Amino acid sequence: MTKYKIAVVPGDGIGKEIVPAAMEVLLAAGEKFGFSFDMENFDYGAGYYLEHGKFMPEDALEKLKAFDAVYFGAVGLPGVDDTLPAKDYTFKVRTQFQQYVNYRPVRVYPGVTRPLRSEKPFDFVVVRENTEGEFVQVGNQYLPDEENGMGVDTSIFTRKGIERVAHYAFQLARTRRNKVTHVTKSNTLINSLSYWDRVIKEVATQYPDVTHDQMYIDNASASFVLKPEVFDVVLTTNLFGDILSDLGGAIMGSLGLGGAGNINPEKDFPSMFEPIHGSAPDIAGKNIANPIGQIWSGVMMLEHLGENEAANAILAAVDKTTESGVLPVDLGGSSSTQEISKAVISNL
Ligand code: ATP
Ligand code: MG
Repeated sequence: MTKYKIAVVPGDGIGKEIVPAAMEVLLAAGEKFGFSFDMENFDYGAGYYLEHGKFMPEDALEKLKAFDAVYFGAVGLPGVDDTLPAKDYTFKVRTQFQQYVNYRPVRVYPGVTRPLRSEKPFDFVVVRENTEGEFVQVGNQYLPDEENGMGVDTSIFTRKGIERVAHYAFQLARTRRNKVTHVTKSNTLINSLSYWDRVIKEVATQYPDVTHDQMYIDNASASFVLKPEVFDVVLTTNLFGDILSDLGGAIMGSLGLGGAGNINPEKDFPSMFEPIHGSAPDIAGKNIANPIGQIWSGVMMLEHLGENEAANAILAAVDKTTESGVLPVDLGGSSSTQEISKAVISNL
């Protein structure tokens, strides 16, 4: 029987509740489809920081390297500087492990009330560049005195960085509905993002069978709300992808529904799977967090490991669960975190 080595990093807040609940679902799928997990828990995050002054120990990445994948909840706590989770954990793992694709699907769940008036179904994937761009943390604050000051962040986009995520998006489109929409703002970010456009257009010529169009981020945001059904694969930069995928979560009905994969397509380092939302301290400890985004990121982990049959079965079980009206509080229901994951398991 195949045994996958999984590093489990629940993190903070609701991560501690939804990760164990979602793991139960993955374990049940393993039993049904003939694989198992060798799991190790790591207590990294803002809680760890309060005790040790850093989000994870020095040798953390060296340790995580040995695993087939990292199953991650969320990091961050009120009272802990909110620039630290990205700087000390997420961005470090994503860049060190060359997880240059952030894969974030958006689709309709049966039985879930959505905020959009249109009933038209939608099903697309936001492919967000995950290692460079606006998130490189290159910049400075100049604070000479009380009256004057200046903050500068530099975005860095490289040919290599753009090309590799673009190839991923075009190849993904070939497995879907053959369309890539790339989203930038090259009419105002005239150096960095017009370079993006140029490189993307070059890559696109290698995929003549894939329809390729372009939108600016402002228009794309409006289109997510007005006509989400036009999208298949949305290819965009780190910052724009971050924003668009929260919007994607919102049009599905809740942030709690969105899952994500930080993917190293070459598999030379582990990939990391997490929900799109954060640690939600406002609802932590109440057993009401929606575990579906976490479960969905587990589905992506199984796909990455090659367990497609199990992945499809879990998604179908989640659909059956929402369709039958077993819904968490954020979707207008009253089921607890565990009640949701138990229902998914029984539908499996
Ligand atoms: P981060 O910067 O880490 O992304 P954030 O500040 O964007 O965090 P979240 O933690 O994502 O904030 O929470 C945003 C809102 O969405 C909160 O009101 C939270 O309660 C709600 N929320 C997020 N995840 C869930 C979930 N799984 N179930 C229910 N509500 C959620
Ligand atoms: Mg957020």
